[in-house]
This record gives sequence, structure tokens and C-alpha cells, in this order.
Amino acid sequence: MSDPRRQLPSIDALLAGPGVAALLAEHPRALVLKAARAAVDAARVSGGGAPAEGWDAAVEAAVLRLAVPSLAPVINATGVVLHTNLGRAPLAPAAIAALARVAQGYAALEYDLDRGTRGSRHLICRDLLVELTGAADALVVNNAAGAVLLALSALARGGDAIVSRGELVEIGGAFRIPDIMARSGAKLVEVGTTNRTHPHDYERAITTSSTLLLKVHRSNFQVTGFTADVAVVELAELAHQRQLQCLYDLGSGLLMNLAAWGLSGEPTVQEAVSTGADLIAFSGDKLLGGPQAGILVGSTAAIAACRADPIARTVRADKLTLAALEATLALYRDPERARREIPVLRMLTEDLDSIKQRAMALGGELIEGDSEVGGGSFPGAKLRTWLAGFPTEQLAHRLRANDPPIIARVAGNRVLLDARTIFPDQVETVIAALKANG
Ligand SMILES: *Cc1c(COP(=O)(O)O)cnc(C)c1O
Repeated sequence: MSDPRRQLPSIDALLAGPGVAALLAEHPRALVLKAARAAVDAARVSGGGAPAEGWDAAVEAAVLRLAVPSLAPVINATGVVLHTNLGRAPLAPAAIAALARVAQGYAALEYDLDRGTRGSRHLICRDLLVELTGAADALVVNNAAGAVLLALSALARGGDAIVSRGELVEIGGAFRIPDIMARSGAKLVEVGTTNRTHPHDYERAITTSSTLLLKVHRSNFQVTGFTADVAVVELAELAHQRQLQCLYDLGSGLLMNLAAWGLSGEPTVQEAVSTGADLIAFSGDKLLGGPQAGILVGSTAAIAACRADPIARTVRADKLTLAALEATLALYRDPERARREIPVLRMLTEDLDSIKQRAMALGGELIEGDSEVGGGSFPGAKLRTWLAGFPTEQLAHRLRANDPPIIARVAGNRVLLDARTIFPDQVETVIAALKANG
């Protein structure tokens, strides 16, 4: 018998066929060419000659597959509000509008409109951050990991930075304090133990090489039992007595107290500023609810040192980020408006009854459960929620294949959809996907 692979068509012959010619009218030639090669390769690998659906259909399917963007929106039905794998904070409408406005054309990113001369991007968001946090100065960079790297380089390069062994943490996405420290050029000096660190541990470690006392917020885990650590206020005071500086890696960037909604224990940025730490680093896209960004607030001298450090250039924020962040921050001037319009805050403070309405609309079994804040914020906090439960585990796979993909929780052999993180305007889409796959 002859090998069917010998009868595979040439790419030129495929492209000349009427079906593929129609594809060429609608799609770029390079894409159709790539799809035709993919279709022939697939037939060769399967060893079976022409595809069962015919060449035209096989090439068209490959075109559609290859044209799908690799970054696509999804519906988050996991109930993890700040889901790092799903892009963390969805933006407020005001932030999206601001971002689109500056994306369309030129923007006064580094241009002083009064004087008609070169300006500084570091001034964008600066005054708003000062106003909202009470800090003397502020600087925005690309993400909080970059902000910590920059702060360590600016304040501690070539010297010792002292940190508790209980705070040598790893944050999601391979951010490890000891590794960042090494890259910053600061020498890590560990003090205390995993569960207990006392003021005298820091005091004894201070030498003439010391430059910085570092406090890292344990954002994604809790230490319980026989524990002790030194409050930032005390650490900042000790640092200043000994002519050192204090850096506080705060993580989440909560700008509004959420205790009234049952979420407590996470310090606000304003509280962090009032500790007297020279620099505080936090994320723009965790509890703050803005775009991915790293924010530094602190003393005039410490922020000036960061601006002057070469790393500031390598981690600078772009115009889209700055526009979206500025619009998000502006919402905080009216905290009630911030809570209503910033999706992260809205989801965290939504009342249980309206979550229940959405869960009921989804059909399935109505189950009481817990959502998660996520993003290394409020570790251990439980948010009561309502879930829609469905019996088959395979459904999770089919929902992921939906357009748009729906990401659900799997518990045992059940699929659970948490209504908290499903936006009201996504409910119909989820219902349709459940019907189609039920
Ligand atoms: C999340 C976090 C970071 C890193 O922030 P990114 O914005 O992800 O770069 C750094 N430190 C702490 C304590 C964090 O929680």
C-alpha cells in the first residue's frame, strides 16, 4: 500500500483552491500561509492523508485558531477577587476612559504645558498620592516588585539592610525578598527567628555598614502561636535614632478602611505613612484596584534618592498605566464613589443578598460558601458568598472552552461558580454557556 503521506498537497496547490482563496480575501496572506502549513503538518503527523472535514475546512479552522489573541478576557467565577493569574484588578470605568484617551494620540507625558519645555513623568499622580496618603512625596513605577528593588538600590546599595527572618517572604510570581535584595546591591542581614524577632535583634545587628531597616508585610500568610515582631513605628524610630532609614514593603495598597465590611487587619497606606517609615512600597493593582503599578510614598529625601537612581529608568511606568492610575486615585477623593465604582472594592463590599440573586439566576444548586480576597491581601479573611453548584467536573473544562472562557472552581466532583466575582452584566453570558454545556 502506498503511504498516504505521499499524497499530501503542496502548500501552493492548497492556496490555489477556491475555498482557501476565499480565506485570502478576508485574512492576511501570512496568516493563511501559516494555517495551510499547520493543516498539512497535522495531516502528516496523523499519518492519514487528507483531513476528514476536507482541506478547505481544515485550513479555515487553523486560520481561526491562529487568529485568536493570546491574551483574551475571561469571566472570573472563582470568587478570588484579586486573582493574579486572571490579571488582578479589573479597572473602574473612569480609569478605562482615561487610558483610552491617552492611548489614541500624544499626551503630555514628559512635557510642561505652562513653559513649553520638557517635563517629568514622575509628576503625574504625584500630587494626588501626596493628598490621599499624607506622605511628603511619591513616585510611580511599573510594579511593586520594581518599587522594592528601586528603594533598596536607592537607600541601601553597598550597605547592609537588616530584615527579620520572619519576613524573608516569597510573593506569587517568584518575588523573593533575598533575591531582590541581592540584585539591588544591598547586603541582606537577617535577624531574629522565623516566629519571633525583637527590637534588640535589630539593635545588635546595627554596625557602621548598616543603612536600612526593612519591614515586609506578611501579605500572603499568617504566623500564629508563639510569635513576636517589631511594629513599623518602633522600627522607624530605631532607624532614625541610629541615622538609618526604614523601608516598609506594604504589598497591597489599601487606601480605604474596609472594617465596616468585615475586612480588618490589613494596614491602610495612610496608617503606613503615619508610622514614620521613610519609604513605603505598594501595588497599584491589588486592593487599590488600579492598573499594574508600583507606588513609593515617603520622605522628600528618600523619594528624591529613588528618582535619581538608574533603576528608576528601567522600571518606569508608561502613559497608559499613569492615566489609569491617576483616574483611579481621583475616585478616592469621594470614598463612597470609590467603593461603588472601583470593581475590587465593589466586589469586596457587595451585600450578600445581591450576590445571592446572581447565584440563583445561574441555576444549579444554591450553596453558601466563602470567597477569597486574593492577591496576597487580608490573608485568612473569609468573605461569605453564594455559589451555584453543578454536578459534573467535566463542566469546568467546557466552561473554559467557552467564548469568553469562564473560570470556575472545582471542589470534589462538583463545579462551583462564585457569583461574587461574576459581574452583573456577565450573568446572561454565563447562563447561556451553562445551557449550551449542561
Ligand atoms: C504583592 C507584593 C509585592 C509585589 O507586588 P507586584 O505589584 O506584584 O510587583 C511585593 N511585596 C509584597 C509584600 C506584596 O504583597
